[in-house]
Amino acid sequence: MPDHVFGRSTGTVLPRAVRGDGCYIIDEAGRRYLDGSGGAAVSCLGHSDAEVRAALHEQLDALAFAHTGFFTTAAAEALADLLIDHAPPGLERVYLVSGGSEAVEAALKLARQYFLETGAPQRHRVIARRQSYHGNTLGALAAGGNAWRRQQFAPLLAETSHISPCYAYRDSAEGESPEEYGLRVANELEAEILRLGPETVMAFIAEPVVGATLGAVPAVPGYFRRIREICDHYGVLLILDEVMCGMGRTGHLFACAEDGIEPDMITIAKGLGAGYQPIGALLASGRIYDAIAAGSGFFQHGHTYMGHAMAAAGAHAVLSAILGRGLLPRVVTQGQRLDAALRSAFDTHPHIGDIRGRGLFLGLELVADKATKAPFEPERKLHARIKAAAFEAGLICYPMGGTIDGRRGDHVLLAPPFIISDDQIDELVDKLSRAVAVALAT
Ligand code: PLP
Repeated sequence: MPDHVFGRSTGTVLPRAVRGDGCYIIDEAGRRYLDGSGGAAVSCLGHSDAEVRAALHEQLDALAFAHTGFFTTAAAEALADLLIDHAPPGLERVYLVSGGSEAVEAALKLARQYFLETGAPQRHRVIARRQSYHGNTLGALAAGGNAWRRQQFAPLLAETSHISPCYAYRDSAEGESPEEYGLRVANELEAEILRLGPETVMAFIAEPVVGATLGAVPAVPGYFRRIREICDHYGVLLILDEVMCGMGRTGHLFACAEDGIEPDMITIAKGLGAGYQPIGALLASGRIYDAIAAGSGFFQHGHTYMGHAMAAAGAHAVLSAILGRGLLPRVVTQGQRLDAALRSAFDTHPHIGDIRGRGLFLGLELVADKATKAPFEPERKLHARIKAAAFEAGLICYPMGGTIDGRRGDHVLLAPPFIISDDQIDELVDKLSRAVAVALAT
């Protein structure tokens, strides 16, 4: 990498990616990398989709950008319509931004403004969960419960309360049923609302299936229904962050469909643009929108590139492909196939403690001792070793670990394109098995 272009690791030389071919990225030396994680759960259609490319060319020939202060565009309208047609009931409005963190920022500010305009200005507090990630901008970072990411920037972050995540593999008690466990951890929300004073609490934010910080961990059945009840009881808005798990990744367009609840807001990004365009969106209930429309009539927020015509046209083509090509049922069948292949490779592996997830959003958790679930020492950086060994073998996967919010552990997140074939699933699992073996041997 030339030294005037830098990523998070300065001084690191990365291969130069030059071309995409379905589920593969090809570098300038001609090496092919199977994209087993869509980058970070982004590339749901693979890297060379002809229809998305055609839609982008068409939009570019017509109009690349028109500022939302002056215009709407057919591309933005069509995208919003399509999202709303398939959104959980009650979500009636769409706010288009450029990524996941922007969507979360918008959600937090919309929540605040909703309470200001409905006569509850004392409501400003946000409750989230430990070991969570909602983005890297300051508002989203403040909401997240990843101590490592927050640490350096703590003086800049708004105060947020964090309750336990719903992480049955690690936290359910001996003899406790999944339902009992879910109820117990959901009830932490009620306790926290009461501790803070219900009249001060604005919103609770959580991922239906936790991606980066836990490695594809869905909540147990009933957890989110109890969360919804508690939010309703205390007048707290429920924001679901589906930036990673949304847009079909779990087999439903919106992951929360499986939990049977209707949130007040949903944030999406990643799979929405599938990497073809940077785009995110906030979906909000008609109730929230109407309160502001009847009040100030103005959401006091905005970004230059919101509602960008190219981004909207790309996302519309992506969403049309997901819905029109039968990709949601395909996520379910290929997800089952990947899950089965992972189980046959790793079920008896002494250091794979858990295989979990939904659809094509699966995670493996590594443990030093399977019986006690003891994690590896963070200094060993097992997740980083797996990432490096997999990349060396031509596989892109998304391992995370070390110490997250005071808890140790290593996991590997898998989120391949929805178009992944049976042979490519076998290739993925084969390369991952070899990478895990190499990482454990070093
Ligand atoms: N929310 C979740 C759940 C995420 O996983 C991420 C990114 O990984 C974000 C928000 C932030 O999205 P972005 O990186 O597009 O700003």
